[in-house]
Amino acid sequence: GDREMERKTVSTCPFCGVGCGIVVHTRDDRITWVDDDPANPSSRGMLCVKGRFGIPFVQHPDRLTTPLVRRDGELQPASWDEALDLVAERLLDYRGAFGSFASAKATNEDAFVQQKFVRLVMGTNNIDHCTRLCHSPSVEAMLVQLGSGATSNSYIDYEEASCLVVVGCDPDSNHPVIASRMRKAVDDHGTKLVVVNPKRIDLASRADVFLQPAPGTDVALFNGMARAILDEGLEDRGFIAARTEGFEAWRAVVMERTVEEYAQACGVDPHALRLAARLYARPPARRGLPADERPGSCLAWGMGITQHTHGTDNAHALINLALLAGQLGRPGCGISPLRGQNNVQGCGDAGCIPDSLPGYQPYRDDVVARFEEAWHAGIPREPGIKATDMVERIATGEIRAMYIVGENPLLSEPNLAHAGDLFRRLDFLVVQDLFLHETAELADVVLPACSFAEKDGTFTNSERRVQRVRQAVPRVGQSRADWEIICDLARRMAPHVGVDPGQFAYRSAADVFAEMARLTPQLRGISYERLEREGGIQWPCPSPDHPGTRYLYAQSFPRGLGKFVPVRQAAPAAELPDADYPLILNTGRVLYHWHGGTLTRRVQALLDQVSEVPVTIHPGEAERFGIADGDEVVVRSRRGRLTGRAIVTDAVRAGSVFVPFVKLRESAANFLTNNAYDEPSRIPEYKVCAVRVEKK
Ligand code: SF4
Repeated sequence: GDREMERKTVSTCPFCGVGCGIVVHTRDDRITWVDDDPANPSSRGMLCVKGRFGIPFVQHPDRLTTPLVRRDGELQPASWDEALDLVAERLLDYRGAFGSFASAKATNEDAFVQQKFVRLVMGTNNIDHCTRLCHSPSVEAMLVQLGSGATSNSYIDYEEASCLVVVGCDPDSNHPVIASRMRKAVDDHGTKLVVVNPKRIDLASRADVFLQPAPGTDVALFNGMARAILDEGLEDRGFIAARTEGFEAWRAVVMERTVEEYAQACGVDPHALRLAARLYARPPARRGLPADERPGSCLAWGMGITQHTHGTDNAHALINLALLAGQLGRPGCGISPLRGQNNVQGCGDAGCIPDSLPGYQPYRDDVVARFEEAWHAGIPREPGIKATDMVERIATGEIRAMYIVGENPLLSEPNLAHAGDLFRRLDFLVVQDLFLHETAELADVVLPACSFAEKDGTFTNSERRVQRVRQAVPRVGQSRADWEIICDLARRMAPHVGVDPGQFAYRSAADVFAEMARLTPQLRGISYERLEREGGIQWPCPSPDHPGTRYLYAQSFPRGLGKFVPVRQAAPAAELPDADYPLILNTGRVLYHWHGGTLTRRVQALLDQVSEVPVTIHPGEAERFGIADGDEVVVRSRRGRLTGRAIVTDAVRAGSVFVPFVKLRESAANFLTNNAYDEPSRIPEYKVCAVRVEKK
């Protein structure tokens, strides 16, 4: 009867790094609606508009249903055998000039198999993913200072904190369920809230202190907070003595300027800066805090910190603050780089980064030997090329062939006109994805992948929780899971490069996970059986009887002592306003669209909310350039232009314009942004460039 056709599948949201639990309802193999999963400990019965209404992309008529191969200049349908034989034959010619992007939207299993293919079959460590474009500076700084790049706390710690400091991010738009948990802390527990953002975000209305620094002046701001903490003797001397090194040298740099000088450098009120420092270092106890617990502060940050030419310095300045105040390693405190894509944590954990093996294990002899023993062949030991450099090195011929899985760099790279020129120069490009997007249109071969709802696997969310993804509907057309496609390709190539094809003969996603867990100490205790029985588990989980880890650094840091790293404020950005381009462009996201919009542009309910690129401009600037609210406007930089719709509000700072990076009606912020990079992390400066705005 009818009821047999209705099914419910418990899974994990495919959009942001919060990783909410969802229940996918289907009828006759069609997704009918999506509900929350009250049993999921990360989301506790909450979902945002994207999780609830954004899933129809899965069965959208635009989905790719067969492989496509370019013949006579046109992409034409082909069989899997034709397509994969061609890819295998061509890629064998480009070992040594090859790079691959993995997808932070794919599963851990997909990611693990992809990096294994790149290392073992292609013989290179040139693999990277979108972390390069979002939190690579955070990871870089955390690895240097602590020895681990992960979020240290859990979401429950936001609710148990006595103070929350939310920097350079807009959780209401980008991590809405985390925003709800933060509001709960403020409303129900009297948790203090400090918001730092050049834009007046919604959360600022709840803040005890709202600081609106000039773009690119974060180091001055955090050094100013540190100076205020030192002036008032609020540092945690016990923690500094027992758990850190480098304090004196760092302190000497911070003492070079006064709180007033720092405040002036970033354009904020020095009293507000001092108050923020006091609240962070020594917050008053929240309501309900156990008497024997020290009030804790959580520090959460986003791309506002990282996407700068000195993004790594910004992250260092923040981590220095956490070490100074001893706000690590207890309940209700910690540091959180808020992750963008659903599986950006897992994609890195699985080894899709150029500078380390799965589990962030270094290319050390003993580690490499363990992988070579498991895989019965040699793997390269030199670090690979980072994502942004792979694109730039197409120009030098160091990269001539690429395999891009689940990413659309021709929407996400900075300075899109330049990036497009480079991609067109590749000898051979393979794109594997759900839709024929901007990058796929340039490919020589396009392979149809299936979505999260058509396969089994795991995602790892921002609080390090490994959670199950379960197949809810049949696969669309001939699409296949990324890991299955890559295994099929790898088996065709393996005999030519001295690799046993049996290395790519997994029977199931569970099989792949078991190998990853065996080779990755932090995941060793996790298995599909446990996930089935217990639900999601937070790594590190070193053994089958280990319950998983709520917060890191209770006893020590992976590098031993936490390290203070002195940083000074550099020039705010690589490109600053001038007479021709008098405004600063700041970029970010909107609630109703997912990043560049490759998925959500195909969801009518979301498009109904926002269908044109909104250009938010300060009233003073609007008047100066003759722009009224609702006008169609053109924004230009030295690199390109876009058309959008003006929103006039003083939520943005005077002198600046805010544009989300979603592409709507052929307009995208990345036509404007600057391909200038932070040196240690190679992240582009998406957050600051110079533009002008005109009425169309
Ligand atoms: Fe999905 Fe993130 Fe929204 Fe949760 S907050 S429903 S994970 S998009």
